Amino acid sequence: MSERSHTAQGPTGRALISRDRGLLWHPYAPLNGPAPYAVAAAAGVRLRLDAADGTVFTPMDAMSSWWSAVHGYRHPVLDTALRNQTEQFSHVMFGGLTHEPAVRLAEELVRITPEPLQHVFFADSGSVSVEVALKLAVQYQGAIGSAHRQKFLALRGAYHGDTFAAMSVCDPVDGMHSAFPSLVAQQYFLPRPPSARLVDGVLVSDPAEVAAWVALLSETAARHAGELAGIIVEPVLQGAGGMYVYAPECLAAARRVSDEHRLLLIFDEIATGFGRTGKLFAAEWAGVAPDVMCVGKALTGGYLTLAAMLCSRAVADAITASPVSALLHGPTFMANPLACAVALAALGLLDSAGWQQQVAGVEKGLTAALAPATDLASVRDVRVLGAVGVVQLKTPVDVPALTRAALEHGVWLRPFRDLVYTMPPYISSPDEVAVIGSGITAAIAQVHG
Ligand SMILES: *Cc1c(COP(=O)(O)O)cnc(C)c1O
Repeated sequence: MSERSHTAQGPTGRALISRDRGLLWHPYAPLNGPAPYAVAAAAGVRLRLDAADGTVFTPMDAMSSWWSAVHGYRHPVLDTALRNQTEQFSHVMFGGLTHEPAVRLAEELVRITPEPLQHVFFADSGSVSVEVALKLAVQYQGAIGSAHRQKFLALRGAYHGDTFAAMSVCDPVDGMHSAFPSLVAQQYFLPRPPSARLVDGVLVSDPAEVAAWVALLSETAARHAGELAGIIVEPVLQGAGGMYVYAPECLAAARRVSDEHRLLLIFDEIATGFGRTGKLFAAEWAGVAPDVMCVGKALTGGYLTLAAMLCSRAVADAITASPVSALLHGPTFMANPLACAVALAALGLLDSAGWQQQVAGVEKGLTAALAPATDLASVRDVRVLGAVGVVQLKTPVDVPALTRAALEHGVWLRPFRDLVYTMPPYISSPDEVAVIGSGITAAIAQVHG
């Protein structure tokens, strides 16, 4: 990290924090919530943070800025891609215009995603891409003569975003539905699929539990088929709804049931996409291809906000042949050229840096470094899948205390509910992954015992 950040003119972190408080909302937090830390710099896998009490930390970013900064901060390749695009043009409308970054990125996404996905809609955030996927499913049903099919089957424990339609398919208890009773659409929910555990590279679950869940899925889909437009799930790993790993067989069953009732199967890979679970897309754990897929988060390597919704040719053809013919959405910043250009570079880096080896290395390191956490009295479960490590406690986490304790051990974390979790940047070295794992364990031991 450069010395300049230490001597930069302007407000210190402490002063910034006090100006922030009461002025700015932070995610899911009250205006007068716990003081944030101020970021003075970020490079590689490290942040430089100023605390409200004046302490300076330079922790590893164990969160990859919420799944996104997989190549680390200030990556020269991504910085260059962005700079080059600013010298062409930074933004143009996408109505009636097109440009090379959008076309090339769409071609690349079609190339790397499961075979049936052939068409791309660029959205400006993950939540919006989910809105577009749900709209697409409803328009598709209308196009094939089932306009009355407008509801969705979703999973308890799901997280699909914070806009209204996306919220409606989030877990109905944790998903803030009760705060907006007349605005959040009523959907149908299945219990979480049975949990799975990674054993020698295979996700293992209880076959009897899987059979029971699949029977419930079949029965629920059959009962509501006349109303349902689609099934939406985060494949294999539910993220912000509980960091929960489930049996891939359930996705194969969802594929069969979707085909049987002409439902669209939507995979939300916004968190799981681009290698995070150890497969390029989590769908590959089940060998199942969806009709519709959403990607975001790591798409731009964490540089800019961009998401995409992809769909199959059959779905696109049906909509194109319908009287409406268009997909009814079009954000101002659709296919922003800077975001597309940096996304192309980030996808290139996945390949050139060898994401498989990177993610396998993080998985191995987290498995070893988090194992001692199993012995802590406060810990209920420890699980690792790909470059994701989760320690679930028996009680809710004391978030401010645990965050601070982890910083003292050199790690930036953002726990929620009873979950202390990490998804490190793919570029983390074995030593850095070990620091994250031991920092998590030490912080939990210190705060929760
Ligand atoms: C983060 C996330 C979203 C929402 O994406 P935003 O860019 O925050 O709107 C949707 N689905 C999943 C699975 C996510 O992890």
